[in-house]
Amino acid sequence: MSAPSVATIGILGGGQLGRMLALAAAKLGLSTRVLCPDPRSPAFEVARDHVVADYDDEAALARFAEGVDVVTYEFENVPAATAAFLAARVPVRPGLGALEVAQDRLSEKTFLNGLGIPTAPFRAVDDLAQLRLALAELGYPAVLKTRRFGYDGKGQAKIARPEDAETALAAMKGHAAILEGWVPFAREVSILTARALDGSLASFDVPENEHRDHILKFSRVPAHIRPATAEAARAIGERVATALDYVGVLAVELFVVEDETGERLVANEIAPRVHNSGHWTETACVVSQFEAHLRCVAGLPLASLARHSDVVMENLIGDEAARAPAILAEAGAALHLYGKHETRPGRKMGHVNRIRPRA
Ligand code: AMP
Repeated sequence: MSAPSVATIGILGGGQLGRMLALAAAKLGLSTRVLCPDPRSPAFEVARDHVVADYDDEAALARFAEGVDVVTYEFENVPAATAAFLAARVPVRPGLGALEVAQDRLSEKTFLNGLGIPTAPFRAVDDLAQLRLALAELGYPAVLKTRRFGYDGKGQAKIARPEDAETALAAMKGHAAILEGWVPFAREVSILTARALDGSLASFDVPENEHRDHILKFSRVPAHIRPATAEAARAIGERVATALDYVGVLAVELFVVEDETGERLVANEIAPRVHNSGHWTETACVVSQFEAHLRCVAGLPLASLARHSDVVMENLIGDEAARAPAILAEAGAALHLYGKHETRPGRKMGHVNRIRPRA
């Protein structure tokens, strides 16, 4: 691997993920410039400089690209035109192909199935007639989701009976949708895989993820899965990263289904970025997901992503951040607050990693 020529990283998006990427960059002696439309972005406080602008403001994008050696992003909904505009000026890592696949649930599931990775059965749905047909094929319950721009359960409607179809379709607000058959999962896990510039791969241990109100609440490592299931998860992450010619950290959210043959994995979605279910790596690994991502995009060696501790990550959502003083008084608890200026219900304000020696 050649000597690093990257000194400044441009980050699209100024939320908590951008903030944690900027902090990890600083630790590696790298500077960061963040672009985000929100003038009070959490990442701005810890980056060398920033640009407040919309993602389609080409003059601002040109200013942002000037003097950065590589651009990365903290969210998958970077508009394709933005990524293309920047890619004409500076390397964008991960590349545009990953964004294209992950931005649309239909192309994402088609891509996964094409790699031999199972997903929920799915059908594209643009109108009520198609929805009724898809429900007849996939059965009940089913989940209708917008193809694009959904997160934390937004843009989703469960359909338990035929009578729910119309209301569910109305909830898509005219956006193209996808119907998914119900996956009777026993637990949810994810795999976080890093792929370096030279194509080498490494994955973190598998976290088990618990959601409340569609928002991640806990990630626990180790997960309660069989070693063969963990190995299968790793193989999925590495197959996806390689097929996308990916550079950086990606997450694949997975359902664990238990049946008479044991455990099998069903992929739900790909996040082409660092991921909330990897925040535990900050405290329980020598190299965190944020540092791993930066090592990849900056062309540095990946080394090992091994875990030295057992850990439970708890998201602090809304006014739960007020528990900070009590958490600070706990031994073995690593608190991370995102410096958000406003507390809102459902908003991720921080997290805490509670570690203990590996069992
Ligand atoms: P998503 O926005 O696709 O990540 O879905 C949010 C959550 O809804 C998942 O973490 C699951 O708990 C649940 N969910 C989504 N799709 C399905 C499905 N096809 N079957 C069962 N549960 C689902």
